[in-house]
Parts: sequence; C-alpha cells; structure tokens
Amino acid sequence: MADADQLANNPLLKTSGLPDFAAIRPEHIVPAVRYIVKDATEKLEAIEKELAPTWEGSLGQLEKLDPPFEYGWKPVGHLFGVLNSDELRVAYETVLPEVVQFGLRASQSEPIYRTLKQLREGPEWSRLSEAQQRIVTDRIKGAELSGIALTGEKRERFNAIEQQLSQLSTEFSNHVLDATKAFSLDITNAGDAEGWPNTLRNLSAKSWNTAHKDVATPATPANGPWRITLEPPLFTPFMEHCRNGALRETLYRAFVTRASSGELNNDPLITRFLALRQEKAKLLGYQNFAEVSLARKMAPNVTAIRKMFADLRSAAWDAAVRDLDDIRKLKESRGESSQMNVWDVAFWAERLREDRYSYTDDELRPYFPFEKVLDGLFQLLGRLFEVTIQQQTDVSIWHPDVRFYRVHDATGQHIASFFLDPYSRPENKRGGAWMDDCLGRRVTNGHVQLPVAHLVCNQTPPHGETPSLMSFREVETLFHEMGHGLQHMLTKVDFADCAGINGVEWDAVELPSQFMENWCYHRPTLLSLTGHYQTGEPLPEALFEKVRAAKNYRAGSMMLRQLLFGMTDITLHSDFDPNGKETPHELNQRLSQQTSVLPLLPEDRSLCSFQHIFSGGYAAGYYSYKWAEILSADAFSAFEEAGLDNPTAIQQTGRRFRDTVLALGGSRHPMQVFQAFRGREPQVAAILRHSGLG
Ligand SMILES: [Zn+2]
Repeated sequence: MADADQLANNPLLKTSGLPDFAAIRPEHIVPAVRYIVKDATEKLEAIEKELAPTWEGSLGQLEKLDPPFEYGWKPVGHLFGVLNSDELRVAYETVLPEVVQFGLRASQSEPIYRTLKQLREGPEWSRLSEAQQRIVTDRIKGAELSGIALTGEKRERFNAIEQQLSQLSTEFSNHVLDATKAFSLDITNAGDAEGWPNTLRNLSAKSWNTAHKDVATPATPANGPWRITLEPPLFTPFMEHCRNGALRETLYRAFVTRASSGELNNDPLITRFLALRQEKAKLLGYQNFAEVSLARKMAPNVTAIRKMFADLRSAAWDAAVRDLDDIRKLKESRGESSQMNVWDVAFWAERLREDRYSYTDDELRPYFPFEKVLDGLFQLLGRLFEVTIQQQTDVSIWHPDVRFYRVHDATGQHIASFFLDPYSRPENKRGGAWMDDCLGRRVTNGHVQLPVAHLVCNQTPPHGETPSLMSFREVETLFHEMGHGLQHMLTKVDFADCAGINGVEWDAVELPSQFMENWCYHRPTLLSLTGHYQTGEPLPEALFEKVRAAKNYRAGSMMLRQLLFGMTDITLHSDFDPNGKETPHELNQRLSQQTSVLPLLPEDRSLCSFQHIFSGGYAAGYYSYKWAEILSADAFSAFEEAGLDNPTAIQQTGRRFRDTVLALGGSRHPMQVFQAFRGREPQVAAILRHSGLG
C-alpha cells in the first residue's frame, strides 16, 4: 500500500481548482489512484448501510464519490492520450483494473439498485425533476446492463468478461499505436517528391531528422530525404500527392494491414472481442450485443438503423459510380491506363479536385493561420450564443503548446473554461481529435463547480517562423470539437450525471459538433476566419466559391465509406457468429460490395486498426455519426430558414439552440430536446440537400 510519502504533495489528490497537469508524474499515479479507490470503497460501504429511497438518501450521497476520481483518475486517462510514455503506460495499466473493479462494484451494488427501484416506485418520485428521474432510470438500466440481476457463476463470468474486454481494449489501441510508429518509408529520390505541397515536404523532412539525430547532413524540405509515416498529417497528403504509384501502393498496403501480423496482430483480439460481447449479451438476456448497445440509445432498434443505411445508400450509390468514372476518365486523358487501383483513388481524386476547383490545400493554408481562425471562431460563438472567450496564461499545462481559455456569458460572468491542445505530436499523442470533460458542472452545498473541457486536435504545427497554417479540414475539425465543448460548457443542468454531454444518448451526442461544422461553409463566417499570414488579406472571393463548390465533391463516395464502417460494425454485433465460417474481414468484404464501387483489396485488414469499435466505445454505435448528422443538418436548416445573414434571426435561433440542445444536455430524451428546438421530429431532407444528393 502507499505510504505517506507518496501521498503528500501528490497532485492527483487535490480536489479543487484545476488539475495540476504540469506537476503530474508517472510515479504519482499508482499510489494516488490506489488511495482514491480504497477511500471510495470505504465510503461506498458506509453509504450502502444508510440508504433511503429518496434523492438525498441515495444519489445525493453517491455523487460525493465522484470528485476524487475527476481529479485523480480523469487526468491520468487524459495524459495517456496526450503525453504517453512507457512509464505512464505501465502505471496506467497497473491501476486500470482496480478502477474498473471499483466502477463495477458501485454500478452492481444490489442495495443501491434496490433502493433506486424503491425510489422510482415511491412517493418522492413525482417530486423529482425530469433530470433527476432520467438519472435514476438510467442508473437502474445501467445496473441491469452491468449484470445486477445475475447471480452466482453467471455473475462471476460476467465480471470476468468485463475485465477482459477492458484489457483487450487497451491492448488493441497500444498495438495500433506501436504498429503506426513501427512503419516508415524514407524517400531519397527527389523525383518522388515532385509535386508535393510544402507542408508535406516540411513535415516529412522534420520527421526524417527526428529519426536520424546523429547524421552530419540533416534533411531539408527542398532536397530531402523525407520520411513518411502512417500518421494522418503525413499519410493523407502523401497518398494525394505522390506521383510514384509503387510508393503509394507500399504505403497504402501498410496502412490497411496495420496491426494485422506478428506481435502486434489485432486479429485474435477482434475474435475475442466479438465472442466476449456476444456472450455478455446472452448473459443479460439479449439476442446480441447490438441490442445491448441500443438499450441506451436514441435509435429504437437495428431495423431503424438498417433503414437509415438503406435510404442513404440508395441516395449515394449512383453519385459514387459517377465519382469513379470521373477520375478514370481523367487518368486516361493524362495518357495513363484506365486501370484504377485503390491506392490511386486519393491521388486522382485530388488531381480532379485541382482541375475542377483549381485550388490546393497549400493555396488555402496561408489564409488560415491558427490565431486568426480561433479569433473568428470565438466571434461566431459571441454572435450565436452571446459568450466571450479570453485566454488565461497562469494555468498548469502538460505541454507548452497547450492553451487555456475562460468562457463568459453576456453579463460578463465566468461560466466555463477549456484547455486546447492543438498540434500534432506523434511521439506521445494519440492521433485524431476529441473533446473530453476535464471537470463537469456540479452543485455542492450551493457551490457551483464550473465545467472545464479538453479540446484536443492534431493539426499541422508551426514550422520555423511560419505559424500553424491550417488545412480546411483541420478548421472543420476544430469547429467540430468546439461543438462538443459547447455542449459540455454551456450546460445549465446542476446534476453532473446529466450535465453537458453526460447522459446524452450516444447517437445524439454528435449533434452539436456536426452542427458547428456547417458554419465553415457560411461565407461571412468563413471569411472572418481568414487572413493571409503574411499580408492579412482575407480569403479571395473566387477561392471561397471554389471551396463551397468543392464541399460536395465526391459526397456519394464519402457517404458510402461511412456507411461501410457503420454497416460492418452493426452487422458484426448483430448477425455475426464468432464461431461461424465467415471471418470479420470476409464480412467486411461482403458488405463492401454494397458500398465500395471499387472493391477493397482482398488482403485489406483495416478492421485491425478500427479503434472506434474495438477500443473507442463505438461498438454497435458507429451508425451514430450518420444518425446524428441527420439531426445536425436538420438543426442547421433551422438557421437557414431563419436567414443566415440576418443577425437578429441568427441570435434568436442561436439562443433557442443554446437553451435546448446545449443547455439541457442529458436531462431530457434527445427526441424531446430536438423537438423543443426544431418544433418537429428530424427529417432526412436537409442532410441529402446539404451533401448535394437530394
Ligand atoms: Zn465528435
């Protein structure tokens, strides 16, 4: 057990203010987390003895167990994503099972479960607010889904499955991380770098230098050598711009077979994941894992999801066939064979984009310096939601690139804050972008703890004297994560369990994020984000028109790609037999016949790096992106109907959005929240119209 030395001044044990990120070291983790779990276990046992079927006598007491985890465990998970190291990983993995064990202990507490059921059937129920009722109901359902009704051997088996799934998840994502790090492609022939955008030259030369520290002649962007990896900031532009098809093939094959062989092979893990989830579903009395997932979602059942896929697929297929035809013709017109390989698609699609819209990512980047984008985004938030945002610099952070901002309402009152970790940092930061809660809004004895969000992106970092110049996609990503952040920060709910994004059904949680992306195509908003980093000149009108026209470029193909991910996921978790003849990859191939105009490679193993559904919590839930996109497109269309260029109408509609979707969070069913904002149920017309497919 921990001795006093390891606990004194341990930054993970503070319980007020902001977490002290700069002070946290891997050696703090094990003693602090063990202490927190032990203390919480003792308190939980004491609460269980005094339970009463009232709010104060049950959840009112249990809420008090959360803050130590919020300060002592959440930051560890956060640093695991943004400041990974061997030491941190070992410490994290040492205590993870103990935290999972405590979570199970609390969610499977029979006295609590019985008391909450009494509360739901007792006299106090009708006096609880809707938010409180949702929390109780969700907690009962959660308890039932975590095996509360199971006894004896079944209960033991269930707990063992949960532990194994949690370890599998960590193992799966470590394999992807390590496999991504293990691969690189050094380009030494200057001819192979012809036609590359400058950002790719810069990043790949820097990447080569990081890998070859002791050489006499370092790489330069102009003359190389250049080092390409499977990290998206290098992989994506390389696939779009490298003229050497053989090199593209090498990189593409490495990408779609990541973590599929040797020590880092995720294949056996996938089989175990699916078998364990299936077994878990049966133990709980469901037919399959998809039913377990949908038990707490907005979508009513698998049939409704299949119908959504079918509607979107039929609207997208012909467009995708035309997309492929277009790039084949272009390839032929440049004197090449019409044979189109999967590793050619991104390259020729990018050539056609240049042809049609004649601009490149690199032409746009200089107009999107990070500071200008951020300033424009903050002003938009002011117009829409009447908030002002100010940077604060005296805050403890985990890396010098990280910033901290305070959010104030129209009266100047401080209502929330957020950390922003903007740049790609492949050596210790997970890829992709995400929003996470740092601190949730909660009210204790009249004291309000304000919500604090983490916004994490992986955009192009500054280089030498050049500031971070964002690609258009990176701008959209920032808007997306800010949308999540707004729901976390602008919540008005006082109960942490359904404040902000907490308690929001998964398939409705992407509503605010995807909603925010729409603003990147609104002319005045977009222009306000731009200012050439050398001249200050806004994005030229003609260039904006091209960006807007390019928005729906290959929309059918993009739609089908997302549908394949979603269909594979829901099918693996409903109709798939882990002991049957068809492998998960074969199933993916079979479904791809409906969604991939150009067949996948037979050896495609992209499921082995499909972190969303194996280590990211989206199991039988990937469909949520499209489900929520229908909601978000329809929500944005309310602003279009009000008149995007009418400031008063925008402010009024913005206030209604803030007071419903952003403020209510998980305190009401998402269908009711949506109707409160939109005045009716969601319709698919807007998503099809926005993507040029309907
Ligand atoms: Zn999102």
